[in-house]
Amino acid sequence: MKMKKIAILGSTGSIGTQTLEVVRANEDLTVTALAAGSNVELLDAQIREFRPSLVAIWSEEKAKELKERVKDLDVEVAVGMEGLLAVAQQPEAEILVTAIVGMIGIRPTIAGMKAGKDIALANKETLVTAGHLIMPLAESCGVRILPVDSEHSAIFQCLNGESSKELHKILLTASGGPFRGKKKEELRGVQPSDALKHPNWSMGKKITIDSATLVNKGLEMMEARWLFGVEPENIQIVVQPKSIVHSMVEFTDGAVIAQLGTPDMKLPIQYALCYPKRRPLPGERLDFSRITEITFERPDLESFPGLQLAFDAAAAGGSLPTVYNAANERAVAWFLDHKIGFLDIPDLIGRCMEAHKVIANPSVEEILETEAETYALMENMRF
Ligand code: NDP
Ligand code: MG
Repeated sequence: MKMKKIAILGSTGSIGTQTLEVVRANEDLTVTALAAGSNVELLDAQIREFRPSLVAIWSEEKAKELKERVKDLDVEVAVGMEGLLAVAQQPEAEILVTAIVGMIGIRPTIAGMKAGKDIALANKETLVTAGHLIMPLAESCGVRILPVDSEHSAIFQCLNGESSKELHKILLTASGGPFRGKKKEELRGVQPSDALKHPNWSMGKKITIDSATLVNKGLEMMEARWLFGVEPENIQIVVQPKSIVHSMVEFTDGAVIAQLGTPDMKLPIQYALCYPKRRPLPGERLDFSRITEITFERPDLESFPGLQLAFDAAAAGGSLPTVYNAANERAVAWFLDHKIGFLDIPDLIGRCMEAHKVIANPSVEEILETEAETYALMENMRF
């Protein structure tokens, strides 16, 4: 049997652990490298089950602990950014799953592509900030970028066998998050524990907060723009509260094609890993004898200004999406730490965007400098 060899950045997270479930269920998939931030207990268990030859851990202190724990095994332990880059470029791996959170994924993703790996991309922050570099690089390296994000996988599936020239627009669906229907004033006092209750999906903390602010949809709009070569004005956000329709595309003749399913990330993960083949997947199925309606709404840009700011950032382009993303990453961390309120998240993003002088076509270095400048600016804005 020909084995497909997989490296995973962020193996201990929500997408990472679900990727390993897919690997477990498909005997021709095997894991050759793993990377995580600091969760040594889980990483240790993953090493023992999946036997990768290389693992990376971000925290230096935790690396010592991990080395001690796995000294009975034949596995190399690498550390920090060097470790992430080693996992991304590991010679034996064929496909790199980017399930790490945040724009820290930029350098490893680029390194993986340059080493000839196909990318199963969950890490949307990388495409939002560096899409103008990543997409042409994929082309010149001859590697594929296979979307893992459910909406983008849906669009990718809808475009199967179609010509991108005949694509008129993308209809990107959103659940609306836990605060759908709330007015701005009602959102002032919401706590992290309220925002972490997503109605349909169970995900990592950062993306769950992004779903509550609708910043996630803004990031996904920019992700879609790069993946499918569509201008932001041809991406329409459609709220579909039950997350049954995972997204849709409209063609030049007006035909609309949608992908539907239960909210289970294992489907897009498995589709990316096994593309272009479909495989059986256990779990719940849509039951159309019980679904009586599928409803659609317009997003509320008044209550969720973070979504409008994403369209502003995309329209200006260059380094502004980096400011949008970096300000959001930092603001979400502060919100989770109870340092700022929920409405401060879009407020800080907007203020950082206003203060920024846009660099057209930024290099990786300029993107990382813009990120650092945004964080520095925010330190002075906090109080
Ligand atoms: P989680 O927070 O659940 O997991 C993040 C993973 O990244 C963990 O394995 C974490 O390790 C690791 N990590 C974080 N920082 C570092 C670092 N500096 N070095 C190495 N590893 C690091 O996030 P999700 O799985 O929810 O999300 C991952 C990405 O996928 C995000 O970009 C998100 O937007 C995207 N995505 C997620 C979806 C979902 O359903 N969860 C859906 C669509 C997209 P540790 O546990 O050790 O800290
Ligand atoms: Mg999504």
